Amino acid sequence: MSQPLRVIIAGSGLSGLAIAQGLKKNGIDHVVFDKESSPRDRNWGVTIAWSHPYLEELLPSELYDRLSDCQPDPKLDSKEAGCESVIIRDGSNGKTMVEPPFPRVRRLNIQKTRKIWSEGINVKYGKTLADIELTTDGVIAHFHDGTSESGSVLVGADGGGSWVRPWLLGDAAAARVLPYTFVNFPFTYTAERALKMDEMMHPIVDVGIHPKSMYIGIFLLDKPDLDKPETWIFYILATWQREEEDYQGTRNMVAELKRRMDGWADPYKSAVDWIPEGIQAKAVPFRIWRPTKWDNRGGRVTLSGDAAHSMTFHRGQGANNAVRDSERFVKAMIAVKSGEKTLAEAVNDYDEDVITRGSEEVEVSRIQTDALHDYENFFNSPIMKHGIKPTLDIDNLKGTTTTLD
Ligand SMILES: Cc1cc2nc3c(=O)[nH]c(=O)nc-3n(C[C@H](O)[C@H](O)[C@H](O)COP(=O)(O)OP(=O)(O)OC[C@H]3O[C@@H](n4cnc5c(N)ncnc54)[C@H](O)[C@@H]3O)c2cc1C
Repeated sequence: MSQPLRVIIAGSGLSGLAIAQGLKKNGIDHVVFDKESSPRDRNWGVTIAWSHPYLEELLPSELYDRLSDCQPDPKLDSKEAGCESVIIRDGSNGKTMVEPPFPRVRRLNIQKTRKIWSEGINVKYGKTLADIELTTDGVIAHFHDGTSESGSVLVGADGGGSWVRPWLLGDAAAARVLPYTFVNFPFTYTAERALKMDEMMHPIVDVGIHPKSMYIGIFLLDKPDLDKPETWIFYILATWQREEEDYQGTRNMVAELKRRMDGWADPYKSAVDWIPEGIQAKAVPFRIWRPTKWDNRGGRVTLSGDAAHSMTFHRGQGANNAVRDSERFVKAMIAVKSGEKTLAEAVNDYDEDVITRGSEEVEVSRIQTDALHDYENFFNSPIMKHGIKPTLDIDNLKGTTTTLD
């Protein structure tokens, strides 16, 4: 490698920003770009659990110390509140089926997190990756606006609908559509109902499964004004066996969800009943991608985060794995900078970890998704047996009654 090490990061989601912060902390030259013209309006929450130590390594201490500001409720101290866990209930009676504990677990609002993690990073917005050119000693990223950036290596941290993934893998990059309808939408309640819901629900993760093969989660997204419950934003995630009409465009999925609420108990019953009139939502495509080995072109192009492994959200592992990838990628670049490894060696080692870990978790999460829609077998599922631990920490997973191929 004749030119100095320079990393091109495609995408400023959690993974891209965590990489940028880690490279900056270690004095490694980099550039981040994103196709959005400014941080996006799509928003949800993620559960950060086992990835804490990696985040602590990547972020400068002043940003790591501000994780509370990334939370939906910045004042929530989950340890002090005694809620370092997630809860799964029987949706038909509201009783707890399992409440896996996890020390330091916390919720992060993805939009707030991106805003805070981009501090000190010069994200170039409005740059859509359109081509990747390989050169003798690196790579050039070309954008739709005609501009370009040169570097030694490009990491595609460009999300589940990655552009870099098909560039690397062609048809093998195609996502698999799972047979569930997926809805995800935010709303506010009246002040009185917001206060009641805030009391009724678990503040980290509160999800219910129902014998009629349906899943609902009620979550807090943001408390813009702690003293005004009418400003608090909640959101619902729901999945059920896929119906083609759900995806035909005109169906309002909030009305469809309300129609399906027979036999549900609180907090889910009230969570849906109380959604104000006029809220509209469409069904969201429910896709996964299980990684398979890619040719990293001599260490010049690779993937991280959802681009490298798109999993269902039902075990809450996507962001944790995205952070882990970022930490592994930064370590790989440190090894290149110090001369311990060549770029090709470092990226090969990185890819092996990402592909192995990602492939396992995409499959375990898919099995969890099936189990959440199969009430009778739920007690055999990965969450029942192993909580929200990382897949590679799970012993004997292949001995469970679920199957891993
Ligand atoms: C509803 C929901 C709930 C979830 N819950 C959890 C949870 O509880 N716990 C958990 O761990 N995970 C959860 N996840 C998963 C988690 O959100 C993702 O794994 C994580 O955010 C992935 O981050 P990323 O940086 O890889 O991708 P993204 O956040 O998708 O970022 C990709 C970025 O790349 C940019 N981009 C895309 N294409 C291009 C291009 N061609 N050129 C330039 N830029 C481009 C995009 O604009 C975007 O900003 C959930 C996901 C969803 C949808």
